[in-house]
Amino acid sequence: MGTQQKDANEMVRGEQIVKRFGPLTVLNGIDFTVKYGQVVVIIGPSGSGKTTLLRCINHLEKIDDGRIYVDGELVGYRIVNGKPVEDSEANIARMRSKVGFVFQRFNLFPHMTALENVIEAPVHVLGEPVNVVKERAMALLEKVGMAEKAGAYPHKLSGGQQQRVAIARALAMQPKLMLFDEATSALDPELVGEVLKVMRQLAEEGMTMVVVTHEMGFAREVADHVIFMDKSVIVEEGPPEQIFEYSENERTRNFLGRIH
Ligand code: ADP
Repeated sequence: MGTQQKDANEMVRGEQIVKRFGPLTVLNGIDFTVKYGQVVVIIGPSGSGKTTLLRCINHLEKIDDGRIYVDGELVGYRIVNGKPVEDSEANIARMRSKVGFVFQRFNLFPHMTALENVIEAPVHVLGEPVNVVKERAMALLEKVGMAEKAGAYPHKLSGGQQQRVAIARALAMQPKLMLFDEATSALDPELVGEVLKVMRQLAEEGMTMVVVTHEMGFAREVADHVIFMDKSVIVEEGPPEQIFEYSENERTRNFLGRIH
């Protein structure tokens, strides 16, 4: 079993994670770590458990066994008399506020402008003053190339623009970790590049990121570490060169062969 000790280098640590949906075991004993400042990219065929793993990190899904630590703290549970007990909503919310999540669908609030979307959570969840948050939100919209559209409503924006606003919105909470779940999969091909560019820029600035993606070019160029999942387990992991160029694992090679 895991230790409660904080490893100074680890933003995320997963130990023997098991997740089931009814009779289906979707994560079958997953161990992984994400160090501070690292970009970890998770690849693998559809249905292998990638999205579920990402959702377990911030407790959008509850795990059935194993442990996950985020920033040194056990996620979703407290240990009482040696046994895990479900944590309070307040503690879970506090942990989640350290973690930005960008979904495949942009999930912007349709009745709010881009700027209002970015401001919403820091003001209403963290209780920060509007004027302070507004300044930060404008800087973030600038960073993702959306300052000129600050007053626009989501339906007036392209998918790529909406996703860039969604990234700014996640960053407005000043997270220590960003999770990206197939952030470009719902976009028209010509809009993928502008979102990947923002993600690449974040990585270069040292943001700790876990990215589930089918964009192998991005994985190869931006990842510090690649995890290949298939059928609920991690089949192989390592630096991008190992996975993309030197892998001797048949399942990895088959998967990469199929998508190229
Ligand atoms: P991936 O991201 O690799 O495509 P997912 O984590 O989305 O894989 O899904 C893994 C498996 O878990 C799939 O078989 C999927 O159908 C199943 N699954 C995911 N979410 C649920 C859910 N809420 N209820 C039941 N089954 C689910």
